[in-house]
Amino acid sequence: MAQPTNLEKPRANALNKDYDRERSFSFLENIYLPEIFKALWYSFKQIFQPTVTMSYPEEKWDPPAIFRGRPVLVEDNGKERCVACGLCARACPPLAISMQANEDADDPKERYPDFFEINMLRCIYCGYCEEVCPEEAIVMSKDYDIVFESREEAVYDKERLLVPKEDLQERLDFLRTYKNRQFGQFWDFQEENNIHSVRDRDREFNSGLSLVELLERQKENDTVEADSKWAR
Ligand code: SF4
Ligand code: SF4
Repeated sequence: MAQPTNLEKPRANALNKDYDRERSFSFLENIYLPEIFKALWYSFKQIFQPTVTMSYPEEKWDPPAIFRGRPVLVEDNGKERCVACGLCARACPPLAISMQANEDADDPKERYPDFFEINMLRCIYCGYCEEVCPEEAIVMSKDYDIVFESREEAVYDKERLLVPKEDLQERLDFLRTYKNRQFGQFWDFQEENNIHSVRDRDREFNSGLSLVELLERQKENDTVEADSKWAR
């Protein structure tokens, strides 16, 4: 069995042959007291610094619009915007979303989710559902205060998911600015070309034109050639 070496120089690192240059400690460093007082002085000074901590839950944090909290369904004029296309469920990595589509001939959007559920035990707050939704019908809210007492309670149904669009305005404005940055920049007719979406039929969202006006403008634009920068 190999005998241990360097017993007379225990500070020597077995991997470091240059142990002569190892730092040696002074007496004060060896008793650690100066470092302890330095740390105490640093902590004492923090008493006079501005407070950054919050007394949660008495004090609630209001996150910025970029924050991705609990995904919710947008309620627009008392109804869900969702048309139950299933894209969000398809894109959701942990398969947290499930829904069943139904039809309503009297509603201009024709389809709606009969049930819509998100299993919050599975949700990883990735925001993919929001990314893919063509209607801006599911968005990431500011809600981070989520507590369940049973597994069943963690499955949010449509009623618990619906939030009026007025309460989500900050996030919707954020999406309009950042998510749709390219919107209308490449094709002159893109805005009118997107009227298949209920969201885009919203007068407030786009140019203020009605659906009929948009259709007429689209017809005109269809006869115009695409922007020259796209011509090959
Ligand atoms: S945030 Fe991500 S994980 Fe959660 S429901 Fe949406 S797609 Fe699924
Ligand atoms: S992607 Fe949007 S419209 Fe389609 S089912 Fe999901 S929430 Fe509804």
